Formats: sequence, structure tokens, C-alpha cells
Amino acid sequence: MLNIDALVKRMDELADLTWERVAFADRGFSFREDSITEHNLFELARHHPQLRVQRFNGAEEAVNGADWEWWVGGPGQGWVGLRIQAKKLAIDGTYHEISHTTAHRRRQYDVLINSCFEDQEKYAVPILPLYCFYNGWNGQSGLDPTWPENTKNAACPKEFFPPDCTHVPNIRSFGCAISSALDVVAVHQGPRGSRTTLNGHLARSRPWSHLFYKRKPPGAPAGIGTRPLNVADTVLSQAGAWLRKGFEDVSLMNNPDYGRLVETVRRPPSRQLPGYASAILNGRLPRDVEWPEATFVAILNAEATSQTS
Ligand SMILES: [Zn+2]
Repeated sequence: MLNIDALVKRMDELADLTWERVAFADRGFSFREDSITEHNLFELARHHPQLRVQRFNGAEEAVNGADWEWWVGGPGQGWVGLRIQAKKLAIDGTYHEISHTTAHRRRQYDVLINSCFEDQEKYAVPILPLYCFYNGWNGQSGLDPTWPENTKNAACPKEFFPPDCTHVPNIRSFGCAISSALDVVAVHQGPRGSRTTLNGHLARSRPWSHLFYKRKPPGAPAGIGTRPLNVADTVLSQAGAWLRKGFEDVSLMNNPDYGRLVETVRRPPSRQLPGYASAILNGRLPRDVEWPEATFVAILNAEATSQTS
């Protein structure tokens, strides 16, 4: 069975390493998003045989706006799909191409969100539209990097900042930071000055390991709450909590997609994977007609004991 604690720890370590790669841009290195994604998925798959990853060399730009798809769960607990767009922080403190439009003049985030809604009907499985921000910066004069001013920490209920926040003591855990695509829309269509900036989007991001990690409720016995038996349910409840937070902040209140996404996170995980994902899980390549649009497809079968699930 998958050791979820080990997976979460490895994701934090990879976030730390991603931070260094992004921060190193001021020394002339500029890793592309897909290089970072490929490295991180490779490292996760290398250490966790329950994860299978397949790269697809399709169109330069994915038609559905996603860089990678992640199917998590298992045959017993069911499956949930995550469709993720990666964005790297540029040296000027902004995310370039957040406002990117596709060939058909549609916003990349609108394409991503709509593809999730369409495909979850087609495949009868909940699919969440997410962004994964690759972050990193250096502290002044060799000191540790510090949290940007006037920026909330969405990962902390007490609104403390790393290193004082016990929920995320290491700022580098935000090297791979997840945000709902609806939060990205809210920031991008919000006040000028923060639409594409680190401050705007970091305030609605959580370390990517938090997808699989739920804090122990106060008073719960040790182990309960930090070791979810059901990965699919955990991801849906985390995504649901983040959505509600965006709604409480008023920002998602006028977004017509909010209600649809709330319905998505209330859906039960699906017993079946899409054909192409099922093929990858079984160590095969999908048939031509089923070729997925994302560059990477990763399948995490939390119930598998080994690679030959
Ligand atoms: Zn905290």
C-alpha cells in the first residue's frame, strides 16, 4: 500500500528543490515548466511504485490547457482527476502568460476549467482544474528568503507566516504551490497591480503536498487525520475546503463556475478511469484515438502493493 506520509514528505522535498531551481534563475539558469514537472514526477515515481507516469509528445500547447493530469485513488476507493497547469515565477516577480490566450482567443484558464467540466461528464469522474506555481527567490544578502509583505498565507488558519507557521514552517514548501483555477481567475480579474504577481497568487496557494495531507483535528488520536486511508476523498475534501475559503473571501461569489465546481467536489470518486488512464495503469499505451491532451499523465493507485497493480 502507498505510504502517504512518505509521499507527502517527498513532495515537500521536491518543492524545496524546485524552489532552488527557480531562485537560481538570477544566475542564468532558467528551467522550463515542463522540465520541472518532468523531474518532480520522475522522482515521485522512482520512490513510489504506486505512481505511474507517461509522457505524451503532443501539440506544443495542450489543447485542454493542462500540462499534466493526475489520477488519484484506487479501484476500491474510486478515482479523482486533477488537471493541472504549471506556471513558473519569473525573475521580475510575476507569472508570465497567466493572461495567455489560445489560438481561438480563449483564456488558457477558461479552456482548462471548461475541459474539466466537459470531460467529467464524458468520463463520469470528478475532475478538478488546478494551477501549480513553481516559486523561488533568494533572501537578501545571503539570508533565508522571507515571506512577501502584504500577502496572506492561505495554508495557515492563524495567518502566521513561515518560519513561524507550524502548518508550513519551511517557506520553500511553496516551491510547488497549488491553487484552484477559480482562484487564479479571481486574482487575474481582480484589482490591477496584483493580477499576475507573486503576491496576488501566493495568497491563494498551498504547498502541493497539502492535496494529500489533512491536519490532525485537535484531540484526535495520533495517526488519525495525518494518514488518510482514502486518497480520493482527501483530495476532494481539500479542494472543497479551498473553494469555500475563496467564496468566504467574496472573490468567488460572482463566478458562475463556482457552483459547478462545488458540485464536482461533492461527487463520489468514480469506479472507472478514462480509457487512456486505465491503459497506462495497466502498463500499456492508449490507442491513438484516446491519446490524451496533457503532456504528462500520472496515475497514483494508493491501493497497489507494487508496480504491477
Ligand atoms: Zn500556521
